[in-house]
Amino acid sequence: MAISDRAKGSNARAVLTLKDLDDEFGSESGYRSAALRDINKRESVICKKCDLENKIPSLDLRSMHCKGCKSIIWLTADTFYHKVRLFRPRVVIMRWFEMGIIVSANQAAKLLTVSNDTVNLIYKQVGIVVSKLMLDNIVEEPSSNCVDIMDRRSIETPAREPAVAEEFEIQATMKKCLGQDANSDIKDAIQLEEDEKIALDVLSEKMSFDQISELLKMEPSDLTRILMSLELKGLIKAMPGSKFIRNDLSVSAQSKTKPENKMSIATTFMYFVKDYFQGVSRKYLQLYVSLHWISFDRIRWETKALRKACASHPHISYEETLSYVTPPIVKFIRERRVA
Ligand SMILES: [Zn+2]
Repeated sequence: MAISDRAKGSNARAVLTLKDLDDEFGSESGYRSAALRDINKRESVICKKCDLENKIPSLDLRSMHCKGCKSIIWLTADTFYHKVRLFRPRVVIMRWFEMGIIVSANQAAKLLTVSNDTVNLIYKQVGIVVSKLMLDNIVEEPSSNCVDIMDRRSIETPAREPAVAEEFEIQATMKKCLGQDANSDIKDAIQLEEDEKIALDVLSEKMSFDQISELLKMEPSDLTRILMSLELKGLIKAMPGSKFIRNDLSVSAQSKTKPENKMSIATTFMYFVKDYFQGVSRKYLQLYVSLHWISFDRIRWETKALRKACASHPHISYEETLSYVTPPIVKFIRERRVA
């Protein structure tokens, strides 16, 4: 698989910054104490066994003994770092994201000498945290706008079907739930009565009501009904002086199905996925949209912003990550264009 220039540049930056980060944090214990400091913003913790409030003596502790019942209190319990064995991969990956450096899970696993599964889990957990922070400046689009990049299978993919079948299944379920054919409004617009077709045909140029009536030899009441129907279907336009003109359908049809700003967001996102990840599964689409947001919003996701967001998020279990499914409507953050 060919690696894009964007991905090559990002990989090179990842290698360089990894050296810098290892210098900055020292070793695994350095990464761990930085992460623990992120979550230990509180001054005390309540023992779950005896309800005693214990002061936290040091900010980079992972566990301590309760002063009352002497049982172990895990300070990482139910936090983003719950039962985490290695802190370096998490802290490094978050810092890469904060720097706008995106590397494939494969590449990250190689550089950090951990398994692909470990990196994938971190990416998904970060994605879940970030997707919950998508609150302002949102554009919503159906996941079907991203079928081009859905070429990875997941546990949701129907057996012996291509990866994209997952999307078609979601669409079929949605249509069933809505109790209607999703294309019906388009068909309605195209379906015309015989006399409507004839009226539309004669309207090759701007004409007055009387001119059309004379050409078609039609009762004014019938013609009024037909013209109103055509106008409601968006096929003709009423002009001043009781004149009518055909709508330019090529323009209106396009603007109806492809609002310009909406398409550009899904398209930019698809280029992002193709460049850095080649493809995604439908199941985790929304989580990659989260990573895309981090990659272009350098102001929102400055240094430590991601670590802070993750540190204040409760534990996301492996099962929760595995059961994540992108909803039929995907949330994107609109890119702010600098004037
Ligand atoms: Zn206790």
